[in-house]
Amino acid sequence: MRQSQLFTKTQKQVSEEEVSVNAQLLMRAGFVDRLFAGVYTMLPLGLRVLAKIENIIRAEMNRVGGQEVLMPALHPKENWLATGRWDALDVLFKLNGSGDKEYALGASHEEVVTPLVKKFAFSYKDLPQAVYQIQTKFRNEARAKSGILRGREFRMKDMYSFHHNQADLDEYYSQMIEAYWRVYTRCGIREQTYLTFASGGTFSQYSHEYQTVTNAGEDLIYVCDQCQIAINQEIIADTNNACGQCKNTDLRQVKAIEVGNIFKLGTKYSAPFNFTYTDENNTSQPVIMGCYGIGPSRVMGTIVEVHHDDKGIIWPAEVAPFTIHLISLCQTSNDVTMANELYKKLTDAGIEVLYDDRPDARAGEKFADSDLLGIPLRVIVSAKTIAAHTVEVKPRSSAESSLTPLTEFLARYV
Ligand code: ATP
Ligand code: MG
Repeated sequence: MRQSQLFTKTQKQVSEEEVSVNAQLLMRAGFVDRLFAGVYTMLPLGLRVLAKIENIIRAEMNRVGGQEVLMPALHPKENWLATGRWDALDVLFKLNGSGDKEYALGASHEEVVTPLVKKFAFSYKDLPQAVYQIQTKFRNEARAKSGILRGREFRMKDMYSFHHNQADLDEYYSQMIEAYWRVYTRCGIREQTYLTFASGGTFSQYSHEYQTVTNAGEDLIYVCDQCQIAINQEIIADTNNACGQCKNTDLRQVKAIEVGNIFKLGTKYSAPFNFTYTDENNTSQPVIMGCYGIGPSRVMGTIVEVHHDDKGIIWPAEVAPFTIHLISLCQTSNDVTMANELYKKLTDAGIEVLYDDRPDARAGEKFADSDLLGIPLRVIVSAKTIAAHTVEVKPRSSAESSLTPLTEFLARYV
């Protein structure tokens, strides 16, 4: 993509209402725009990052047998009454339609997915199943001060699994624990992320969070460096301030962001919808459920909180909007042609390149923008590099740049 054609521009300053680092950097760089508190537009650059995160999640959910669907965001009140959450869920957006009809905007989808799968699963032969979607969720969050970490409208991957017994759920749950790790590894935040015990502090528990350590976090967790796990603040008292696994009391208190949450639901949602199956003996049994959430937009904000410096964002390779930021400092038409040719060669080879071809921007401006945008590899073409048959290459994460012979560079990428 040619930067000269991008409709967004970088900004020196954005709304002071945005206090979080993720919103400041993402808005200054032109990845997102704020409509109002907790509600953001994904701009061309931001949408590329979000799509990459969602595609990583999609691939990992497919790998553990998940079947993707897209459920409605507009829900009938009855389904939420059935589970008691019409009144119990304080963040639920409720609205009135024509007549006396009332609706909810989907804050979660147990109320839709449970009756949905019930229409197709009758016997033990129809189980297990795992169904997921990647979709926009709505929650009337009281505090929306953390940029895209806490949206009132935000992206969520929500997976629901359906089993004939607890052992089958337990087995699937442990596969999901690993699938989630693969997601965070590929998103570049594995190192900072801890499997966190939300209650009880043992592995047999019914709920776990994935918490990424950063000062921007709204949650407090207690990390056990021996087990490489953490305990949520809400339960720490129950465990006598000790790790539930090794009983270590030397726990590290840190701030963290909940980037994922997995639950063993049991019959909590199958019961209100009378979702049962017939077993081998033709006896009716309750369906056992699990649910597994990740917020792709929150993951995007978390990556920025973890990977930035005072100049801007430093995207991990797999989620970066582009692989190469090609910067042309060329002035003469011959040199500009050379830069254009290099851009064409790279894009023809399938490499994602943002090409700073802006004729009227100064070098310093281009470098500052490049640092802010955070594309992993910067490649500079100028009269000097062309004369020497080289390009200047600088990883975003390093202070050093080097001159690489053009033939060597092309051999590596094309
Ligand atoms: P929190 O405790 O942070 O409010 P939650 O426990 O209510 O989150 P879940 O219902 O478990 O969230 O949702 C699954 C995942 O969706 C979370 O782990 C998080 O990654 C993401 N998520 C939840 N709420 C938001 C939000 N308001 N904005 C962005 N992502 C969110
Ligand atoms: Mg949660």
